[in-house]
Amino acid sequence: MKAILVVGSVAFDTVETPFGRAEKVLGGSASFFAVAASFFAPVNLVGVVGRDFGEKELAAFRGRPIDLEGLERMDGATFHWQGKYSYDLNSRDTVCTDLNVFEFFKPKIPARYRASEYVFLGNIDPVLQREVLEQVERPRLVACDTMNFWISGKPEEVRKTLARVDVLLVNDAETRELSGEWNLVKAARAIRKMGPSTLVVKKGEHGVVMFTEGGSFSAPAYPLEEVFDPTGAGDTFAGGFLGYLASAARLDDEALRRAVIMGSALASFCVEAFSLDRLLRLTRPEIEERFRLFKRLTNFEPLD
Ligand code: AMP
Repeated sequence: MKAILVVGSVAFDTVETPFGRAEKVLGGSASFFAVAASFFAPVNLVGVVGRDFGEKELAAFRGRPIDLEGLERMDGATFHWQGKYSYDLNSRDTVCTDLNVFEFFKPKIPARYRASEYVFLGNIDPVLQREVLEQVERPRLVACDTMNFWISGKPEEVRKTLARVDVLLVNDAETRELSGEWNLVKAARAIRKMGPSTLVVKKGEHGVVMFTEGGSFSAPAYPLEEVFDPTGAGDTFAGGFLGYLASAARLDDEALRRAVIMGSALASFCVEAFSLDRLLRLTRPEIEERFRLFKRLTNFEPLD
């Protein structure tokens, strides 16, 4: 089964940017990932929400190949994250994180999901990430996200999880912290020795660099005139990246390069509006058109 299992946060986000404010709108790593990946392959979603998560929010997932049997509902409130961006949108401060029901999240993988061939471990406790892997059969590819909170707080657990991961997707600061190397090429070499054969380093508006067995590959971020809200861009990138790989005939270096461009294309739509608003209006022809624009953006002729 070419389905993708995603485990991560499903949230209400309150976001303030220089251009506006959105109050308790749908967010969370698993939400962005699932909607992006569902353009390419069926998605099995595992997460937790509270009683305040209603039909209006669920509507975002309905009508798409996103299975919600693994979306647990607990007594209490849904995880709430509040962030504020500075004028250049590159730095953000977390104003508050109300874990609510997420504090008690113990991922339970429904029997139907255990044969998922692709797995995305969203940014959760590395111990829980491994518990997810214990519950799946033999995935073809395991991809994983993490953050500085876990890298500095539970370094040994992060290492143990990484030993079982094929693709790690992190930002440049996390790459440096995890490896203890400032230089990204050296950092990538060190991280690839920890387990993941592929490292994808996200650099926000400066694009992405991927390190694989075959060398490195670099993609810019799409030059947009209007960037409205960067929240979820990383998870949307991961959804486009893994979604494309699940739909590709082969898992070779060429497919990984196209996956980076597909992830970048999806992320470029995500930032055009608050929450998942743009992704929910997105069409397949729009995705394909932006993929082609990326080709033009980076194409040049060799020297005579
Ligand atoms: P990104 O912009 O890709 O880093 O993802 C932002 C999303 O991550 C938001 O929708 C938040 O709800 C979610 N988020 C923020 N903090 C956490 C956390 N500590 N654990 C899990 N998800 C989080």
